[in-house]
Amino acid sequence: MREASLRPGPAPAAATMGEPGPRGRFGGYGGRYAPESLVEACREVEEAFREAREDPGFRNALAELLALHAGRPTPLTPAGRLSRELGVRLYLKREDLTHTGSHKINNVLGQALLATRMGRRRLIAETGAGQHGVATATAAALLGLEATVFMGERDIERQALNVFRMRMLGAEVVPVTTGSRTLKDATSEAMRHWVGATAGSHYCVGSVIGPDPYPWMVREFQRVIGDEARAQCAAELPAGVPDHVVACVGGGSNAAGTFAGFADTTARLTGVEAEGGAGAARGRLGVLHGCRSLFLQDGDGQIVEAHSIAAGLDYPGVGPEHAHLRELGRARYVTVTDDEAVAAAVRLARAEGIVPALESAHALAWVIRAAGDGGLPAGSTVLMTLSGRGDKDISTLKELL
Ligand SMILES: *Cc1c(COP(=O)(O)O)cnc(C)c1O
Repeated sequence: MREASLRPGPAPAAATMGEPGPRGRFGGYGGRYAPESLVEACREVEEAFREAREDPGFRNALAELLALHAGRPTPLTPAGRLSRELGVRLYLKREDLTHTGSHKINNVLGQALLATRMGRRRLIAETGAGQHGVATATAAALLGLEATVFMGERDIERQALNVFRMRMLGAEVVPVTTGSRTLKDATSEAMRHWVGATAGSHYCVGSVIGPDPYPWMVREFQRVIGDEARAQCAAELPAGVPDHVVACVGGGSNAAGTFAGFADTTARLTGVEAEGGAGAARGRLGVLHGCRSLFLQDGDGQIVEAHSIAAGLDYPGVGPEHAHLRELGRARYVTVTDDEAVAAAVRLARAEGIVPALESAHALAWVIRAAGDGGLPAGSTVLMTLSGRGDKDISTLKELL
């Protein structure tokens, strides 16, 4: 019997990360707050996704893309030297080893395949670090689709290499000059663009955010991380399940996919946010980009700009399911600073020969801190998702180190 069903309180389905409730809700979060034309488009995406996930043809085609093009399954790497230094047993789920260098490809291949099934010829996407844009451009090239990627001007400066990669792959990159010129504004712009292009285009959302069905659908496409890790832990760990499961949280897709594999176990789930982008840890209830969730806001309820050294964590909110998991107490959300993340990146490079993305370095920074202050008791087993590789951050790091 599952642990959750022994306790009073929330329904096990919610705690074990199944389907959202009526109207795309995770508890009081989620929903579909969008203009009428997008509500209809979201309904079509939901219907297509429900059909596709039941279709063995779709499932096999996606499994093949993930295996032959994305390089799955990714290894579960024991971080031997770092584990000895920290006094915990740390295992890394290596999404940095996927094609294009981050977990984003898992979701994008799923949505791109869904788009072709729906007869859509173009993918629209927003991007922060550029990883989702690169993954979208890659999947579009692979499946013979067009790609239009919206990206904040500030991120275009910070992530010049990824901008070049997207253009090399044949995608159109549209600079967004409004607001903080980062991910939030790129997302708004991409949604606005989709309103006028729903017939021929699929909006390929890059995280577990946006209107229903995106938070659910993206988590399902990222569930492969958690499912693989669960099987790998069952084979590798004496207890079969780690004591702790840790992942960084921007919108929350790598964390949601990882948590989904362990939600029905005794593992303690921890999402690590950037100090300046802590939607789950410090946000308040609001509506943005089509869903009700936790967002950083000022006294007047205006969305506050996020600030993080990691472009992929520079989002002022968090996906609705994370807000729900937090409220249930099933997952906790903590924050680390830019400096802690940079130090963690250097430490992983020196101890294990892995240069992580600065986003992923946030998760490690918390592991390092918690191993030191008793938050992770000595000898605990810790599964951490290493969401991406650090190549894109080399120029940022070069200025600091
Ligand atoms: C985009 C990105 C993130 C943050 O996105 P989530 O949806 O929270 O997973 C984390 N790590 C890397 C490497 C990324 O590219």
